[in-house]
Amino acid sequence: MEVKIGYPNQWRDYSMLSVDRESYLGNTLNANRFEFRRNLAKLGKPIDRSEWGMTPPTVNAYNNSSMNEIVFPAGIMQPPFYDPNADDAVNYGGMGAVIGHEITHGFDDHGSKFDAQGNLKDWWRPEDLKNFQARAACVSDQFDGYVVDGDLHENGKLVLGESIADLGGLTIAYAAYEKSLAGKPRPPYKDGFTPEQRFFLGWTQVWGANERIEYARLMANTNPHPLPRFRGNGPLSNMAEFRKAFGCKKGEPMVREQTCKIW
Ligand SMILES: [Zn+2]
Repeated sequence: MEVKIGYPNQWRDYSMLSVDRESYLGNTLNANRFEFRRNLAKLGKPIDRSEWGMTPPTVNAYNNSSMNEIVFPAGIMQPPFYDPNADDAVNYGGMGAVIGHEITHGFDDHGSKFDAQGNLKDWWRPEDLKNFQARAACVSDQFDGYVVDGDLHENGKLVLGESIADLGGLTIAYAAYEKSLAGKPRPPYKDGFTPEQRFFLGWTQVWGANERIEYARLMANTNPHPLPRFRGNGPLSNMAEFRKAFGCKKGEPMVREQTCKIW
């Protein structure tokens, strides 16, 4: 799996794109034409594996199956995702889990259809898919249960891939954090929280958000990502590591009766 972080090795040449103060529509049309021509010019040429699908300041990340790569623009490498001055627990819970999220996309029902070179070639055995689907059903049911507004719930099937990536990403980021501590003195309490608690707080700080009800409804109906509030709490309520860190008991809101585990 190829990893790209920060910004491309070579800047894209925009010198042929004209932008002026005359017309917003004109600029938009120019930009679309420029991008269309840039894409057309790729025809017949070998694939450019150095190309980026996001600009450096974008606060986002992606897994591109057809290049078998995970990409993290500079924009996401800042708080609340990553802070060079924060302690490791917080950064593993934030950026670490985002990196884990993108990795696991390569191993889900979508990533399984692409081989190591990014060619459309399924590499799972039929029983792998069956096992995956059985475990995935648990996550789908979980998100079906979340109420967005009135009688509108999250759509478990719509948000399934992203919710699985959050759960899987957190699970491997937590394992990576534990591994990083092995053989070292245990990090002290900070602001009254244990390192394990800070890991989970790092994750939920990423999802602190506010949106109007109209936007929440639009998201729930159309966006494959769950609403931030459910991305924050949803995966944690499946994790034994979270229950242990905060001493949650059976029957409490952040402990699901039936916990889901994919990886
Ligand atoms: Zn994703």
